[in-house]
Amino acid sequence: MLRSFRARLSITVLLLLALSLGVMGAWLAAEFRIFYMVRVEESLVRQARLVELLVRDSYTPAHLRSLAPRVGGLDNVRITFLSPAGVVWGESAREAEIWVNHSDRPEVKTAISGEVGVHTRVSVTLGVPMLYVAVPVWDAAGILQGVVRVALDLTGMEAAFARVHLLAFSGGLVALLIGGALALAHAQAVSEPLHKMSEVALKIADGNIACRADVAGPTEIRRLAQALNTMAHNLEGELKRVQVAAEKLQAVLASLRDGVILIDNRENIELINDAAAEMLAFSAAVILGQRDTMLMRHPELSELLRLAKNERSACHKRIVLSGQAARHIRAAVLPLEGGRIMIVLQDLTEVYTAVDSRRDFVANVSHELRTPLTSLGLMVENLLRGALDERDVAQDFLRRMAGEIERLTEMVLDLLQLSRLESGTEGLRQTRVVVSGLVREVVEGMYGLLDNKGQIVEVLGDHGTTLWGDREKVRQVIINLLDNANKFSPAGSNITIGFRAHAQETEVYVADHGPGILPEHLPRVYERFFKSSASRGGGTGLGLAIVKHIIEAHGGSVYVRSRLGEGATFGFTLPNHFAEGQL
Ligand code: ADP
Repeated sequence: MLRSFRARLSITVLLLLALSLGVMGAWLAAEFRIFYMVRVEESLVRQARLVELLVRDSYTPAHLRSLAPRVGGLDNVRITFLSPAGVVWGESAREAEIWVNHSDRPEVKTAISGEVGVHTRVSVTLGVPMLYVAVPVWDAAGILQGVVRVALDLTGMEAAFARVHLLAFSGGLVALLIGGALALAHAQAVSEPLHKMSEVALKIADGNIACRADVAGPTEIRRLAQALNTMAHNLEGELKRVQVAAEKLQAVLASLRDGVILIDNRENIELINDAAAEMLAFSAAVILGQRDTMLMRHPELSELLRLAKNERSACHKRIVLSGQAARHIRAAVLPLEGGRIMIVLQDLTEVYTAVDSRRDFVANVSHELRTPLTSLGLMVENLLRGALDERDVAQDFLRRMAGEIERLTEMVLDLLQLSRLESGTEGLRQTRVVVSGLVREVVEGMYGLLDNKGQIVEVLGDHGTTLWGDREKVRQVIINLLDNANKFSPAGSNITIGFRAHAQETEVYVADHGPGILPEHLPRVYERFFKSSASRGGGTGLGLAIVKHIIEAHGGSVYVRSRLGEGATFGFTLPNHFAEGQL
């Protein structure tokens, strides 16, 4: 394209040059010829008049015949004397021509009519181009005596004209060659930067947006290069802005807990964020750019998509996505401008789980309360029906009633504590706690209970071990664990309380030699109201739930290890130093 531009520019300049030189040369040659011929013609007329003056008084055939050879040949001019009728009386060129009638020659005709005749033609006599001038010869009475004709051989002049033409042509050719070379150089100078600029433009179009053109050459080319560079600069800025916007959008989408899917107008998945990919159990990298029929794997969702497409209006529905664990999703399908469709997936599983667990909780609490309340009711009824009169029976009833009331109170207190922990109203007052001191305190506080069963508590751990936590709450945790160990292990058995410091945290555990826990119960022991069948009737099933809550509120974790018949180890880890973000 550029090459053809350069060729076209050169050819155009060359053609213009050739045309102007041609026209100019032709015009000058013609002018020169006319100018010269006019001068020659005037000179011939003067010569003819001169000869006419010379012969006017003796214009007789005999005189003219002898005179002609003498005057002819002067100045390369041929002279012919003619009678009034056009018959040759004297001729300077050839003898034989005499007496031939020349009255049909145009110049002779004009002279006979009394005018000066001029004519140019190839001479019949000599066969060369000649310029003829004929003047009438008058006598004193004004009667035509004859005609004097002078003729000039133009061969030499034509040769001179040809030389002039040749000279003009050669000069024109040289000018044309120089002009052509200059035109080519100029076209090259113009096209080279254009060629480079087109390469730069192609690179920019290919995405190499930092590429810039050289600002050099003629003014117009420089301006063009500047404009190209400004355009590239602006484009770069725009691109960066778009990239930043896209990155922001990407970051927002990635941080969204809601799933977002965008389907383009060709029904391909244009965008899917991590949350959506995770909910639908797809790999975002794989599904991107695929047909939206990929969503068929989730029939409820693809049905909703079909509905929104048909009705061209927003549709939403609660659906259940099956996967490793069923997920409750609120799906909204929104048709957008230009045929695109947006799908928003809101994971309501947690809300559902919370509702379920609240329902379970209420059911559990009711269930747990019903047993002691029913037995209390029965005992009161029996007392009223007469058992009150039997002192021993009444005392037994009242003792059992006190036990039930104690259990109820214990449960209500546990529930209150759990509720306070869950609501987060009780803040943590964290300090550095020396674990050995805290453990000693707990063991001393429970000495009565332990002694009743003849159980010995062994404490294993470095005296200097500390942890970072709310002393009272951690005390509650150790009490709950030691209380369970006391409750569930047989009389006379050993209980171990151990603690050790790791790099970032401190571990505390309580190990007993009780019956242990069934493997299928292990994952559930920290749940609220979980009680193994062996312990039904005693305990609230809330002790370990409280432990878990307290430890997790500190940013720690709990564990349990047990083999049936070989005892159980309940433990936890807590940070052993203050960390940013902990209060
Ligand atoms: P509970 O008031 O019933 O002790 P917990 O939440 O403290 O409630 O304990 C839940 C259940 O975990 C208990 O009912 C018991 O089945 C089991 N469990 C707890 N500690 C032990 C232990 N040391 N040995 C065996 N089972 C235990």
